[in-house]
Amino acid sequence: MPTIHSHISDLRAALQTYRVAQRIALVPTMGNLHDGHLELVKIAKQHADIVVVSIFVNPTQFGIGEDFDSYPRTLDEDVAKLATVGADYVFAPTIDEMYPLLPPPTTILAGAITKQLCGKTRPTHFDGVGIVVSKLFNIVQPDVAIFGQKDYQQLAIIKQLVRDLSYPIEIIGAPIIRAADGLALSSRNQYLSASERRIAPILQQELQYLAKQIGAVQQPLDVLLSASRERITSAGFIIDYLEVKTTELTAVNDESIHNHQGLVILVAAWLGRARLLDNLLVTIGKVR
Ligand code: AMP
Repeated sequence: MPTIHSHISDLRAALQTYRVAQRIALVPTMGNLHDGHLELVKIAKQHADIVVVSIFVNPTQFGIGEDFDSYPRTLDEDVAKLATVGADYVFAPTIDEMYPLLPPPTTILAGAITKQLCGKTRPTHFDGVGIVVSKLFNIVQPDVAIFGQKDYQQLAIIKQLVRDLSYPIEIIGAPIIRAADGLALSSRNQYLSASERRIAPILQQELQYLAKQIGAVQQPLDVLLSASRERITSAGFIIDYLEVKTTELTAVNDESIHNHQGLVILVAAWLGRARLLDNLLVTIGKVR
């Protein structure tokens, strides 16, 4: 079983014994773990000797009216699952332990990259992610940290944070783990009713379809995207965004698209009470 700590000083003391000779990995999560999270732990174990999983429903990354209060908290089940994949430590702090002052007067503003995609409808979300991830990096001082590509924009922001603040931490992006029908696993999938759950994989199917169309380049991007938006909307979703970007999250258009080898199609859409997030990397045939 992993050892659980809820105080920063206890966790630091425990990790200090490994620091010289061994590599430490951090897997930050908000708990309510599923196979996607466990996969991050398995990857972490390939890159480090000691794996620390943080479980913290971070209040600063939730906006007003979002699901902070109702977000599922299942620490006992999470720890049992983590034992099956060999996590060594669980860091499950209280809000007071993490934030002596809430909101914290110090902010991490990651700039333009946070203003697009999810940042348009969740304007304070990535500031909250920035501060909690910075704190976790300073608390655990890992050699490597693993994040899911499921939250593609978050991963890009963290890579930027590590570069700009010179964190001596290797960041590894882990592939999206999906249910058999293609739906990306997410703690928020449990907000879906049975009928919504049957509809949900349409989002991934649409990304696959779009990827093929973009690869073939038979129609302008705008036309492809609005047809896609229409199909997603008529299936019952309310779209937050559906966009095609470079893998660095810069803009592409019909002229520039072939200058990029890799693109990413990103979608966020509401289905009932659940805001579903997905993305798909696309490789364009030729680079000009
Ligand atoms: P969360 O607990 O939702 O904040 O997620 C914690 C970490 O798990 C983040 O790095 C997520 O990107 C990652 N993650 C969540 N769902 C998946 C998934 N289906 N596949 C891979 N990684 C995931």
